[in-house]
Amino acid sequence: MLDIQEEINMIGAIDIGGTKTMTAVLSDAGSIIESRYFPTVSKDWREHFKITADAFQRCAQPYLQELVGVGINVPGMADSQKGTLIYAPHQNWKDIPVAEYFRNAIGIGEVIVENDVNSCAIGEMVFGGGGTDFLWITVSTGNGGAIVANGKLIRGVNHCAGEFGHLKVEFEHPRKCTCGQLGCLESQSSGTAIRELFRERLMGDSALLALVQETEAELPDFQRDARGLSILAERGSETAREIFWTAGRYLGRAISYGLNLTNPQRVYLGGGVAKSLPLLLPAIREEIRRNAVLGAADVEIMETKLGYHAALLGAGALILQGR
Ligand SMILES: [Zn+2]
Repeated sequence: MLDIQEEINMIGAIDIGGTKTMTAVLSDAGSIIESRYFPTVSKDWREHFKITADAFQRCAQPYLQELVGVGINVPGMADSQKGTLIYAPHQNWKDIPVAEYFRNAIGIGEVIVENDVNSCAIGEMVFGGGGTDFLWITVSTGNGGAIVANGKLIRGVNHCAGEFGHLKVEFEHPRKCTCGQLGCLESQSSGTAIRELFRERLMGDSALLALVQETEAELPDFQRDARGLSILAERGSETAREIFWTAGRYLGRAISYGLNLTNPQRVYLGGGVAKSLPLLLPAIREEIRRNAVLGAADVEIMETKLGYHAALLGAGALILQGR
């Protein structure tokens, strides 16, 4: 008898991100066969969805016969049962019938819509490091999160479970978050927050400024952001290491809350700043020792096994999960 997995050939994947959108055709083993990348147009969702559907069709044209479904990530809160986007804060898109639009536009019956970080967690189960109990946290421009417990993604009654970015981690000197509250993880430890800390420290630290100028002269693509800061840390800057220590402490605090609540076996970190995990990890570990209960503190912390295309692979995994 033929295993159902063997009948699946190609999967469509669309990742509509806050700043860029990717469309792709993947194999059922998670290889990217064809892909297109373009900026996300934020003004009008209909205009952007039309561009996206056209790009997807150009990718998928040679594979239409083998395509079993299309998974779509949206950059905000999604109702995957209804296939709708509830709210995307950066675009200010609200109540959008995403699945219905793409079913009509590309003529494929199976379309699944999910929040982008939830998709990354599903992608980790299907194509990545796997596991039945884990947290998936992104450290990028902002911070997002997802919780998998007993092999299932936890969505919550209003689709906002796993909002690690808005866990409160600083109470004495909190920074204002984009959500309007104070001291959220995203305002203290995202890529944006790290860049801001870097900028503040540069103003009063002549040794750091000298190292930055020297590095800029050597590396033309050096930028004064979290990635640039990791280069300075490698070059021996104590200030750079301190900033990563601070960011790691906040991350560790947020992770500890998740550990005490769900007792996972593993924490996956994704997003550009997760590349600097070795610089963040000592402070994350120290904060877990201080805040998590003994059994919950015994957890593996690692970078996602999905690599740079985590969200795109996650979109494809939406079609394979549960088959
Ligand atoms: Zn917030």
